[in-house]
Amino acid sequence: MRVEVDVPKCVASGQCVMIAPDVFDQREEDGIVVLLDEKPPAALHADVRESAVVCPAAAIRVVEE
Ligand code: SF4
Repeated sequence: MRVEVDVPKCVASGQCVMIAPDVFDQREEDGIVVLLDEKPPAALHADVRESAVVCPAAAIRVVEE
């Protein structure tokens, strides 16, 4: 799995950080997403997929490799 975030689309809602805090963080100043782990381990894949589904801005893309 490879994770991509479209940073300009992010609306800083924070759902991804709540669901997968080892993969996503938010910038201190404005809450915009920061991708921590572009290739997360298998144990986190379900959480990453859920993050992509619930992201209100559809800013998270999951590429299955
Ligand atoms: S869930 Fe989407 S909109 Fe919310 S912080 Fe994460 S990437 Fe940004």
